[in-house]
Amino acid sequence: MREKRIIAKNIGFIIGTLIATITFFIGVFFVMSENMESRKQTLELETSNNVNHYNLVLHTIFHNILVIETYVNTVGIDNITQESFDDFVEFINFEGEDFVSFSIAPSGIIEFYYSKDFGEGLIGYDLVNDEREYVRTAVEYAIDNKVIVVNGPFELIQGDKGLVFRKPLFDEDEFVGLINFVVDYDLLAESFNSNDAKTIYTSIYDENKGIVFGDAEYTDNIHYYEKIDLEYVNWSIGIQISSEFDRSEILKSAYLGSGFTLLYLLIMYLWSNYYFKTRALLSYQNTLIKYDNLTSLPNRRLLNEETNQLIEDGVPFYLGFGDLDNFKNINDVLGHTIGDQYLSFVAKQFDKLVENNLRIYRWGGDEFIFVFITEERDSIIAKLDNIFDIFKTPFDINGSKHQISISVGVVHYPNDGANLDELIKHADIVMYDIKAQYKNTYSFFEEKYLVELYQKIEFQQKLDDYQISDFEVFLQPIIDVKTNEVKGFEGLSRLFDKDGKLIPTFAVIKRYEQDGKITNLDKHVFHQICKYLNHINKECEKEYFLTFNISPLSLNNDYIEYLRRTVNSYKINPKLIIIEVIETLGFKDIRISIELLNKIKDIGFKIAMDDFGMGYSSLSYLAKLPFDIIKIDKSFVQTYESDAFNKTILRTIQEISETLNLETLVEGIETQKQLDFVLDLGTNYYQGYLHSKPQRFDEIMKIIRKEEAKK
Ligand code: C2E
Ligand code: MG
Ligand code: MG
Repeated sequence: MREKRIIAKNIGFIIGTLIATITFFIGVFFVMSENMESRKQTLELETSNNVNHYNLVLHTIFHNILVIETYVNTVGIDNITQESFDDFVEFINFEGEDFVSFSIAPSGIIEFYYSKDFGEGLIGYDLVNDEREYVRTAVEYAIDNKVIVVNGPFELIQGDKGLVFRKPLFDEDEFVGLINFVVDYDLLAESFNSNDAKTIYTSIYDENKGIVFGDAEYTDNIHYYEKIDLEYVNWSIGIQISSEFDRSEILKSAYLGSGFTLLYLLIMYLWSNYYFKTRALLSYQNTLIKYDNLTSLPNRRLLNEETNQLIEDGVPFYLGFGDLDNFKNINDVLGHTIGDQYLSFVAKQFDKLVENNLRIYRWGGDEFIFVFITEERDSIIAKLDNIFDIFKTPFDINGSKHQISISVGVVHYPNDGANLDELIKHADIVMYDIKAQYKNTYSFFEEKYLVELYQKIEFQQKLDDYQISDFEVFLQPIIDVKTNEVKGFEGLSRLFDKDGKLIPTFAVIKRYEQDGKITNLDKHVFHQICKYLNHINKECEKEYFLTFNISPLSLNNDYIEYLRRTVNSYKINPKLIIIEVIETLGFKDIRISIELLNKIKDIGFKIAMDDFGMGYSSLSYLAKLPFDIIKIDKSFVQTYESDAFNKTILRTIQEISETLNLETLVEGIETQKQLDFVLDLGTNYYQGYLHSKPQRFDEIMKIIRKEEAKK
């Protein structure tokens, strides 16, 4: 699935890139072809314009020369007089803006001269023997080859630059004279490069003489040349694209090209930016979804995905469900921030163990899941040992050392469960079994756990055979630690089966809670407590208090009302009754809890916080909730010797309780040593097998009588 998505994403990227690339090339092609096309068109237009113009201008010039030649031939070169010349000039109307002057030079010496602007400045010049070499050689060339030559451009005596067309005249092959026709070079040049004078140069090229007009050399760079049909000359017209034109054209293309390249790069950049950002965002979201915030370990979601994949692929694996032992205490005593640091630290250590066939996930809270993708038990045991090695050395958190352990239940797929739910359920059973016994170890799932599970189910069915009235209420003495006097008793439910065997109380209570029958039981117990108290009060001078347990599910207005009515009907001083509450999720809404507990206190009852240090209880509740007594869970006193941390917790609880004026009671005192410790701790009361187990009321009465006798 994931791969498909990645492929789809990549295809998206490739298509995007392709579109951008095609756009780029189309753009470049379009600009280039447009550019080339327009360049070609400009050139062709310029060329034909220029050729036409040349033809026109040159024809005009040659036409004028022809007119002069006709005049010379008609009059006879030797017969021309100043008078006839003046008549001719007057008669003729020379065409062409660029016309400057013309002269007639019989035998090469200028005798007749006509200029638009000036007088006869050049009369007498011997062109055949002119001191200026370029004049001389041109004239020689014209005579030798019987062609019109062009001289110039050069500075004219009238000023400006001129171009001189010289036509030799012959009489039966004998040179008789020259006609010189002068045009304004600049005017001519200007008129040739009408459109784009800067970029196109035009030249007239003579096959023999080379360039006769214009600046461009006759080279391969001449893009176009065309023969000009003239009588005497063998000329071509060439049009060259100047290097300036080339450069600017190229620059234009380059600008456009780079513009498109930039556009292309921009598109690519924006596209890839968008693409990679989206991808990065997606993968970040993926990470957020599939990885735990606190520890960065993969979470349930990824566990589900990956194990389901293994199951789908038929890959057998082992799954370990691990729960840190007594982690709650860290949170309670050191606070949640330290607790979180602790979890991150543990996770970091776990992360180091992760490899191809060992994956580690955070299931939630202090629970972790290990997936071993192997069938070799030895290898799993080695890996489990590595996990437990992490916990061998105390963790250093904010400078103080903490020893903690983990319990892990291990199951096998497919032997111990067909899907993840079943596997976790079974691993959980194993893990809880370990916790109930020794903690700090691991165990593999066995049939016996299933048997236990089925027994539980059977047990539930069995419970249905009993009614509330079948329950007895046993009492367990509560003793003053300092004086060793019995001060009160805790009422505990007892249910015996048909054979007189005790059905485990805790299991019954849990079942009743699940079935919603617990409040009825709690009412029944309270009735018994009231009865017992009346009895004790009648018989004894000394006042004893009785405590009893209510389920968090019973902590509601109805039940409190019931307590009030009942205590009134028995006419009992509610001060002698202590109601034990335990923390569960019920305290989550602390406002409601405070309200309900205050109602109980208003009636006159006292309240004890039971099993403190277990489950969800927190030190912060001690200050917030209206407790009179704190009952410290038996697990503490039973482990303080082996667990130094628990000892610290006990001291902390005691200190806080003293500060808050609360009395303390330690449960589960079984040995004198434990009692000594509790004495040293400064606890007010204790309860435990050392003094007495919970017993039937008549047995308790014996104890009371003994106590009475002590006085
Ligand atoms: P709890 O209120 O903390 O009661 C103390 C438990 O510790 C009792 O277990 C008692 O028999 C046991 N105990 C006392 N001294 C020692 C000792 O020295 N060593 C050991 N190992 N255990 C000792 P029990 O009677 O099995 O009750 C279990 C829990 O069930 C109680 O814990 C209480 O939370 C709940 N419970 C009992 N009766 C009722 C009831 O009528 N209503 C409700 N809602 N809960 C009840
Ligand atoms: Mg209790
Ligand atoms: Mg308790």
